[in-house]
Order: sequence, then structure tokens, then C-alpha cells
Amino acid sequence: MKILITGATGQLGSLIIEQLLQKRPAGQVIAGVRNQERAKRYTDQGLEVRFVDYDQPESLAAAFNGITHLLLISSSHKDDQVRLLQHKFVIQASKQAGVQHLLYTSFAFPPQGPIPPNHVHLLSEQAIMESGLEYTFLRNALYMDVVAVFGLNEAVAGGELITPPGEWSFNAVTRQDLACGTAAVLASGGGQHKRIYELTASRPWNFTALAEALAELTGKQVVHRTSAECKHFIYDFLGRIDTASTSADLEHLLGRPVTGLKDSIRPFVQSAAGKK
Ligand code: NAP
Repeated sequence: MKILITGATGQLGSLIIEQLLQKRPAGQVIAGVRNQERAKRYTDQGLEVRFVDYDQPESLAAAFNGITHLLLISSSHKDDQVRLLQHKFVIQASKQAGVQHLLYTSFAFPPQGPIPPNHVHLLSEQAIMESGLEYTFLRNALYMDVVAVFGLNEAVAGGELITPPGEWSFNAVTRQDLACGTAAVLASGGGQHKRIYELTASRPWNFTALAEALAELTGKQVVHRTSAECKHFIYDFLGRIDTASTSADLEHLLGRPVTGLKDSIRPFVQSAAGKK
């Protein structure tokens, strides 16, 4: 078994490799990177590093030579059309190189029915299904990083977490939990064909719970209040995706509950630094 992880120098890729090395021999894990200089920590660890740049399709099949399981971490390019093309290059090269099983980090609870023409994740999933490769989809929830735009530090300072009105509900989890879940899939045989995981929190949380977690974390009074004056483009985005649906898939993979809200938001709260 040879597992290659693309985007291995990124935040999610790094965490997945760290977790995977606790479960599989280093000889089975290969870091796919586009910037060799950023991969020094892997070479120092004795890991095999291969050059994988989605924008250089002609080099991909050779990079995937001998790989049995390939985890395609979705591209971080800003333009979704470019992302889709990059993903298609990886899919084609995987097929050409004889990769047995392709795993793809998709997005949790996509819309049902006809695929919206700009939905990069559903279109990538479709391209993988049409490729004839064995596949597993790891549909990741929103990263917990989303809380950074909710004004947590202002809420602690002012005693109020102010958000727009509405029934907001979140399934967001930490990258660390997503990485642990993904490493568990990779380590246990490399993924089950046609399996789709919805990697989200098992129970949704809301702004009231977030204010409570902030108060508990900082020891200060923080309450939640809505205001129509509160505007940020993130809410338009959040309103267009399913942030509320939940699944126990991640919890099952982890063999424990997902990280609680208080601990998950700790890195985003300045006054909580160092607090228990
Ligand atoms: P990240 O830290 O930005 O890492 C992205 C990785 O993709 C980096 O390693 C980057 O390489 C690599 N990459 C970008 N363009 C590439 C190319 N042309 N060829 C090969 N590799 C390329 O992002 P992350 O936090 O690990 O997240 C992983 C992915 O999840 C993102 O790329 C994005 O698609 C998606 N995402 C999900 C959420 C969510 O809330 N679920 C939020 C944001 C993003 P370098 O290290 O060389 O830059």
C-alpha cells in the first residue's frame, strides 16, 4: 500500500500526514507537494516527497506511479473553474498511473438534485465517479475557522456576541478532527469504494452556545444578541450552504465525540491564550 496525499504542505494535509504516521509505517506515506522547500520537514523525517502541482498536468502521472491510494485535497485556487480543471487533471493522471483508489476532500451536505453548474465539489465528485476509479468522498464540514469572522474578541470585550437575526445553526468542526477522521479512513485499508462520509459535528451548535462557550473560556460575561445592523459578507455565503445538517460519521471514525465548542474556539480568542 502506498498512500499519496496532495496539498501535503497545507494545513489540512500536514495534520493528516501527522495523524497517518501514527497509524501506518512511514514507507507507505508519500507527501505530494508543489513547493519542495516547504516540504523540508518531511524529508527530514525520511518521508518520500513527490512534486505534485495541479497546474502541471504533464508531470502528474509520473508523480503517481506506484501509488495505490491517492488523497486529493481540493485545490485552494480562488477560481472554481480552475479548481475543477485542476481536479480533473489529478483524476486523469490517477487513472493513467493505475492508482487503485482515489479519495477526495469534498464539502458536507451538498445540494440534492441536479448539480448546480458552479458546484466545484459535486462536479469533481461526478468526474471521479465517471473515471471508473474506486473512490471515497470525505465531505468536510466548514472548518471551525469560520468563528474568526463572528467577532469573538469584540464579543468578549463588549459582553455581547452580535449576529444578524435568523435561525443560524452550525456543523463546523476543527481541521484537527477532520484530519484524524481522514487518517482513520486512510489507515483502515485506504477507503471503502463508493463510501461517502459527511464529516461534520454530530450535533449542531448555534450563536447562543457560542456565546456560552466564550463566557466559559474567558470567565467574562458574554450574551448573544441579534441585530439587523450586523452585516458581513460571510453571512450571505453561510446562508447559501447547508451549515446545519449533521452526521455521526466523523464521531464514528474518531471513536470519540468531536472536539467541544469551547476547546475548538480557543485558538481564535486572544484573551483565552494560555487559559485552561
Ligand atoms: P491550505 O492550508 O490553503 O492548503 C492548500 C494546499 O493546497 C496547500 O498545500 C497548497 O500548496 C496546495 N495547492 C494549492 N494549489 C495547488 C496546486 N496548483 N498544485 C498542488 N497543490 C496545490 O488549505 P487547507 O486548510 O489545508 O484546506 C484544504 C482545502 O480545503 C483547501 O484547498 C480548500 O479547497 C478547502 N477548504 C475548505 C474549507 C472548509 O471550511 N471546509 C475552508 C477553506 C478551504 P502550497 O502549500 O504550496 O501552497
